[in-house]
Amino acid sequence: MFDIPYEQAVKRIHEASGLPIAELQSRVDAKMQQLGGMVSRDGAIHIIANELGVQLAAPVAQSGGSMKIGDLSLSARGVVVTGKVVRKYDAKTFSKNGRDGRIASLLLGDDTGVTRLVFWNEQVDVWNDLKEGDVLVVRNPFVKESMMKDRLELQLNTQSTLVVNPEGVTVANRPISENPAVERAPRVQKYIKDLQGDEENVELVATVLQVYDPRFFDSCPQCNRKLLGGNQCPQHGEVAVPGLNFSMNALLDDGTGNVRTSFWKQQALRLTGKTEAEFQRYKDDPNAFESVKNDLLGEFIKVVGRVKRNETFDRIELTANLVFTDVDPIAELQNLDKKLAAEKRPDAASEQPASAKAPDSIDVAGEEVVSLDDLESLDE
Ligand SMILES: [Zn+2]
Repeated sequence: MFDIPYEQAVKRIHEASGLPIAELQSRVDAKMQQLGGMVSRDGAIHIIANELGVQLAAPVAQSGGSMKIGDLSLSARGVVVTGKVVRKYDAKTFSKNGRDGRIASLLLGDDTGVTRLVFWNEQVDVWNDLKEGDVLVVRNPFVKESMMKDRLELQLNTQSTLVVNPEGVTVANRPISENPAVERAPRVQKYIKDLQGDEENVELVATVLQVYDPRFFDSCPQCNRKLLGGNQCPQHGEVAVPGLNFSMNALLDDGTGNVRTSFWKQQALRLTGKTEAEFQRYKDDPNAFESVKNDLLGEFIKVVGRVKRNETFDRIELTANLVFTDVDPIAELQNLDKKLAAEKRPDAASEQPASAKAPDSIDVAGEEVVSLDDLESLDE
């Protein structure tokens, strides 16, 4: 499951943190005990590395290369991004420390996503001359997390260069069928402790600490909505033969914190590897689900989803839009950028193990028919 053997992981943490090896070993024992045997020794040392802020495997350094917008990450440095001006925003002036400044931005897009490109002060003169459809080659931008909506953005600084409409450079349009969740914001890998709420397309690699029983409800076979009394669909009226819909919750932990995560039908099927017919059986015989729960405990999974703050319970929650099982967390960190790129490029899809393959289309609509508030009421 892990690329890095346990002893080697201990050695790395010892070197990075200065903690004695014996101390690390007793922390592993304590962690395993604390988690009630839900993590392996390898899992525990990984969690401890997270807690100490030690990276067992440094992310692949991004330097000097061309990057697709959808593949940008906070660690990207010295990259070249080529895109088309999708939209120009207004320029603004501001005053700071008695000096006037200017700021302007635009939305830059390629066939993998869009990102905001920010211009400061005299760079705004360049921005003034740009129009939608212009091709920009941006060298060495500063990649940072945007204040707005938790996206990544590119900022031009003194080390950056910008070439407008270079000869022979074209930018492919984005396929229309692409997952809208990706379009809203580039996928960003995060630690649970950093989740704020109101974030889309967040990726976590975490351990399953607890699994709750699935909640079943009758749904409209046409729109998947939860049926009201008398088998009434809010949109389609009375339903003769209700469909089965369900959700399940799990507590995920990545060593920095834990987050309650909802898996609607399609993602619950992916998470458990079970069929709809099997879930029908769990509905009739809840005890049969116990072994599914046990199998999931301590598993490392990768989840891409939407983060919301549940005001009632004053906690952060995640709704899974995509689940990957059979995940190797060390390799995940190592190959994150590479993998994200492969998932988005159909020609590279065959290189992935079947278990980590993204579905061709993501049934987001079917997953979001019930709000988290509904889930709470189903839950208690
Ligand atoms: Zn309906």
